[in-house]
Amino acid sequence: MADFADIIDQNQIIEHMQNALATGKISHAYIIEGEEDAGKEFITRVFAKAIQCEHREKKGEFIEACNECHSCIQATSLSNPDIITVTHEKPATISVDNIREQVRDDVIIKPYASKYKIYIIPEGEKMNASAQNALLKTLEEPPAYVIIFILTSNLNAFLQTILSRCVVLSLKPARDESIKNYLMNNLHVVDYKAELCSSFARGNVGKAIKLAENENFENLKNSTIELISKLSGLEIYEVNNRIQEILTPPKTDDDSKSKTAKKGKKSEENEGKKKSQKADLEIVEDFFDVLLYFFRDVLVYKAEENTTHLIFNDKLSYIRDITDHCTYSGINHIIESLGTAQNRIKANVNVELTLQMLFIDIKENI
Ligand SMILES: [Zn+2]
Repeated sequence: MADFADIIDQNQIIEHMQNALATGKISHAYIIEGEEDAGKEFITRVFAKAIQCEHREKKGEFIEACNECHSCIQATSLSNPDIITVTHEKPATISVDNIREQVRDDVIIKPYASKYKIYIIPEGEKMNASAQNALLKTLEEPPAYVIIFILTSNLNAFLQTILSRCVVLSLKPARDESIKNYLMNNLHVVDYKAELCSSFARGNVGKAIKLAENENFENLKNSTIELISKLSGLEIYEVNNRIQEILTPPKTDDDSKSKTAKKGKKSEENEGKKKSQKADLEIVEDFFDVLLYFFRDVLVYKAEENTTHLIFNDKLSYIRDITDHCTYSGINHIIESLGTAQNRIKANVNVELTLQMLFIDIKENI
């Protein structure tokens, strides 16, 4: 049962929400903005539960939900009829019909048991213009008991008229140290791995948790560093094969099941394809991160010759080995090439070709 005390950092948003709970001045519409997995829905549900709680109370630093009343129990099991999550059947779009049926026509019905009726719209940026216009009607004259939360990773997707009627709360990156402590204390992740995951997540708590729980990431890290360590003895075609292996996500049972089930249904197939493309891109991103952090470690170790500030503490022998063979300018050149390659891939230049050029460059400099 999550409470305000469980939110990692995000002091500004917490302060705003606490203030609203203390004064009773809760807005009719909020936009909660932040990266994917950063915790938008987590925070919103903590706030929604506290708003609806029948006996909220000050616990420690914060005003929290009691977690015992009927409303809290239902909120925790995601079955509170007065906390409604807007869904959409088309993966890429929240349509005007979704908003009409689930929000505009529904707000007229009074809350079942609570003081408020709360609507949560995840992936709000997927509302097309007509869906936003339909929502605007409700935002212009909301019944007194209605509170709407639009969650989004992209504020630019909204009409100005929507933005001007909502309180916009933006998530900030959490501190590495806070994420690390959370991973160690709550998920029992060992310290060097917690350090690694929090560095990689760049302030995104959900990403850090995913990384910590993802065995594939551990494999990706190990095989990438191993590839670098053997690079000087490999022919380019061998390097290419190795990269392909590293970047091919291992098939899960789920994948094959869903593929058979989806046979013949084109839109779902496309959706499956999109998901796997996204997964592929995520792997490429993680691959680049491993390379960048590894060479950053090489640079740090070359300069300081101690291990305190290394991210890949567990790969010290590899780091030492590369450090011995590399010059400062060589390492800097590699780090620059990594940046260039990453930008090319973001600009949709052929991934395979870009990586091939990159590895020729790395090979020449180590
Ligand atoms: Zn309660």
